[in-house]
Parts: sequence; structure tokens; C-alpha cells
Amino acid sequence: RTVYVNGDYLPETEAKVSIFDRGFLMADGVYEVTSVLGGKLIDFAGHAKRLERSLGELDMAAPVTSEELLEIHRQLVEKNGITDGLVYLQITRGAPEDRDFAFPDPATTPSTIVLFTQNKPGLADSPAAKVGMKVISIPDVRWHRRDIKTVQLLYPSMGKMMAKKAGCDDAWMIEDGFVTEGTSNNAYIVKGGKIITRELSTDILHGITRAAVLRFAAEAQMEVEERNFTIEEAMQADEAFITSASAFVMPVVEIDGASLGDGKPGPVAARLREIYLEESLKTAI
Ligand code: PLP
Repeated sequence: RTVYVNGDYLPETEAKVSIFDRGFLMADGVYEVTSVLGGKLIDFAGHAKRLERSLGELDMAAPVTSEELLEIHRQLVEKNGITDGLVYLQITRGAPEDRDFAFPDPATTPSTIVLFTQNKPGLADSPAAKVGMKVISIPDVRWHRRDIKTVQLLYPSMGKMMAKKAGCDDAWMIEDGFVTEGTSNNAYIVKGGKIITRELSTDILHGITRAAVLRFAAEAQMEVEERNFTIEEAMQADEAFITSASAFVMPVVEIDGASLGDGKPGPVAARLREIYLEESLKTAI
């Protein structure tokens, strides 16, 4: 693979980052994952905008412009011959001379930017979309700025492992009795045809796919309600699903061992997946 590190395109085996990088020592960094379908980037503008916001919230300067970022994405997709896959981007606060809790001076410690691609042939035809996912619920013990897309992914990784151990695919996190989101996706239920998902706040990541799906749902005259829901309500729902840049819209068919409806992916999730893939490809660049 060819990867990008601080201005250079290099074979992945030659790419280097300092051991003093605050991303490595302190998870002091942000990231984005953009999907590639048919060689084109899905919702690049949305990801670039959220990246800018994440950086701003953490007082980090963007080392490249949005235009440069797009060019790097495109170069990597081309150099690595990606038709379907993902582009991972990470910006960390860089490597000061020594480990210290205080942020280093950005004038002397530039941020570190790293991008690489992941080849995922047939990304949009995942068999999982036909079968649906099984989720468990776990407590949400993450920090309270989940709207910033930081690389602090230890608890979500642990959640994924808890799900795996339970023979499931993912975990929905619960706080104060309400579902926040999945380990790496936004969570939805469908009741009486209505799509219900938690409202935006600092409690969840503002999913780029979520924004697009809610827009497409409204355009298709589907009813959407942004509000909190409990895991009990979810278990009684007609359908459930998740959204993320890499999974698009993925149905959920089981929650904490209880099957939803007939235990098969529901029609609303299936329709939204179709609409999302169709519509987002139209604006892919
Ligand atoms: N919520 C969390 C915690 C995530 O990590 C992600 C994606 O990585 C999402 C939601 C979905 O966001 P997006 O649709 O922008 O991929």
C-alpha cells in the first residue's frame, strides 16, 4: 500500500511517526473515515467539514486545506487502485520534544497527518445487509464529548469484543436509560413506520451518514423523529438499524437476545439503504 504521511506518499513499510507523537501517547487526535464506491468518495464534503469542527474543538490547526485533503484522498485511491473501500485520515497534535500533559506550541510542534486506504471489494453488497446484525446493550462509559471524532477508541473496541463474546455483531451503548449510539455507528428504531433516532448533542457523534439518511428519508416523505429511546423500546420496535460511512445503512434484527419483528431485516431499513446508496453515489466525487 501507498500511504500518506506529513506531505509524502510512501510505501506503508517506510512510513514513520515519532514515538513521542501525542496521538500515540495520549490519543490526542481526530480522524475521519470516508467510503469509496466505484472509485469515488462518498460525502467527502461532510467528512471534511466535521474534521474541521473536531480540530477546532480541540484547538488544533488543520495542516492542509480541504482542497489539498481531497487531492490526497484522490491520489491514494488512484495509487492503490481502490474501486470500493475506505480512506482513513488521522490528524494528531504531533510530537513534542518530550512527554507532557500541556499542549505543545503549534509553532514548534506541527500536527501529524496520516492517511491510508483499505481495499473492500463489494463494500456496498455486504451479505450482512441481507441477514442483519445482532446487538447487545452495554453501559456508555465514554467521555462526554462524543461529538468530537477523537481516536480514543478503546471503550468502543472493548464494546465490540463484548458483543463478539456474546455471539453478536455490535453493542449499543446506554446512558441514563437511553441508547446513545453503537460502538462505531448511529442507532435507529422504526415504530409504526416512523424512524426514531437520538437528537444531536455532545452525547453522540454527528454522523455524516446520519445527516444524509435523515435528509433522504424526509425527501422520500418518511416520518422521522429525533428523540431518545430506551433499549426496552428498541426491543419492542418493528425494526432497527445503524448507519455509518463504512456500513451505510445496516439492519439490526436482534437486541439483547430478543428478535425484532420476524427476525429479518425490515422494509424501512432496506429502503433507506437503497436510497442512501443511490443518492450518495450521485454526489460522490
Ligand atoms: N457514532 C460513532 C461513535 C462512530 O464512531 C461513527 C463512525 O465512525 C458513527 C457514529 C457514524 O458516523 P459516520 O456516519 O460519519 O461514519
